[in-house]
Amino acid sequence: DGRMTTSSSSDDDDNDVGGGRGKRLVYLDSAATSHKPAVVVDALTRYYETLNSNVHRGAHALSRESTDAYERARDKVASFVNAHSRDEVVFTSGATEAINLVATSLGRTTRGGGGGGGGGGTPIDPGTGWHIGEGDEVLVTEAEHHSNIVPWQMLASRTGATLRYVPASSIADGFDVGALEGLVTRRTKLVSVQHVSNVLGTVNPVEAIVEYVRSNAAPDALILLDACQSVPHMRIDVRALGVDFVVASGHKMCGPTGIGFLWGREEVLNSMPPYKGGGEMIDEVYMDRSTYARSPARFEAGTPPIAQAIGLGAAIDYIDSIGIDRIHDYESELGDYLRRRLEDVGGVTVLGPPVGTERAALCAFVTDAVHPSDLGTFLDLEGVAIRSGHHCCQPLHRALGYSHSARASLYFYNTKEDVDDFVRALDNTLGFFRSLATGNDDESGGA
Ligand code: PMP
Repeated sequence: DGRMTTSSSSDDDDNDVGGGRGKRLVYLDSAATSHKPAVVVDALTRYYETLNSNVHRGAHALSRESTDAYERARDKVASFVNAHSRDEVVFTSGATEAINLVATSLGRTTRGGGGGGGGGGTPIDPGTGWHIGEGDEVLVTEAEHHSNIVPWQMLASRTGATLRYVPASSIADGFDVGALEGLVTRRTKLVSVQHVSNVLGTVNPVEAIVEYVRSNAAPDALILLDACQSVPHMRIDVRALGVDFVVASGHKMCGPTGIGFLWGREEVLNSMPPYKGGGEMIDEVYMDRSTYARSPARFEAGTPPIAQAIGLGAAIDYIDSIGIDRIHDYESELGDYLRRRLEDVGGVTVLGPPVGTERAALCAFVTDAVHPSDLGTFLDLEGVAIRSGHHCCQPLHRALGYSHSARASLYFYNTKEDVDDFVRALDNTLGFFRSLATGNDDESGGA
């Protein structure tokens, strides 16, 4: 059932609910969040109508059934990314929470200890193992999403660790692994990079980065891959990637909001102190101390996002039914088409590496005629939904010399017709703004 839930043309929709401004909606903002197929919405409704019950604790049938459905969703995520074990998959509210979980936990000085260990805690010897403390270094890139920068800044200010950045100049036209020289040192305890940039569209060379980090960083250095913009669009095999953590958000891959996941190597997860305390994450609780469950329960304190996880499971089934490789091939072609059409529009500069480089199906761009925010507003009047702003990448924009950009991003449900409609609307809008600048209304072309 490929019925999409956001209305595109809304003949019977006097209130313009669903976007499109009374026109055919051209949705080019899937890098921010994807649409949800009807099967996902139905899965949420079915859960609340037929299964609603808290997981893990109840002896009654409903609770068992909702627990099964919740845990089946974990299995689906595990197999989607080829995890060794379901216990390596921790549900979080999204990629942002997954990164915060890792950054918070690694900076803590109490060890959970494989199902034992105490909340009173054994301090991890600073400077050894996976713990990050004073004198240690964390490396990210200047092109990261804020969610892969700010949690590490917070970790650094809490612990006295140093946060270092791979400069945007070594990434903007494709990740230059040579740029890691001098930045990855024996003090580097963690490297966190995005797989695919949500602005540049670059696909980072994970294998080469991993190889460099493994040979030059501290012996126990960990590598986190922010796979928000890759998991929905290409086959991800966590075993082949060779990293320690992968994070992603469900809402960018046809799933509901409020659900994402952290994949981590089991050995690492089970040695990490909990991130949040509460029900479900414990083994035993005494008045003066507690012992902790193993992963994934250790990191899922409280009632989890049950319906959302089940919805994510339905989204994975949906993507599987189309085929992630087919999605990737289709998007590669459509993404190239988008880029070529955009570059044919005079006065448009597309950010990121040149044509011919492997790129995600998204283009962030600036124009010589109109501010990205005005462009977004005018295109919206034409029924075209794009994003404008810094896309949560202020340091990257600053380094590129822009405060904002506009971004059109695609998913498998977009078509060449969408791209053509977008480019036509863009052309009209640029014509209108140029005519304002020259005071010649005849050239407006109508915006
Ligand atoms: N990293 C990247 C590369 C992203 O594109 C996003 C979402 N825009 C995030 C992290 C954060 O994801 P979320 O807001 O869903 O937690």
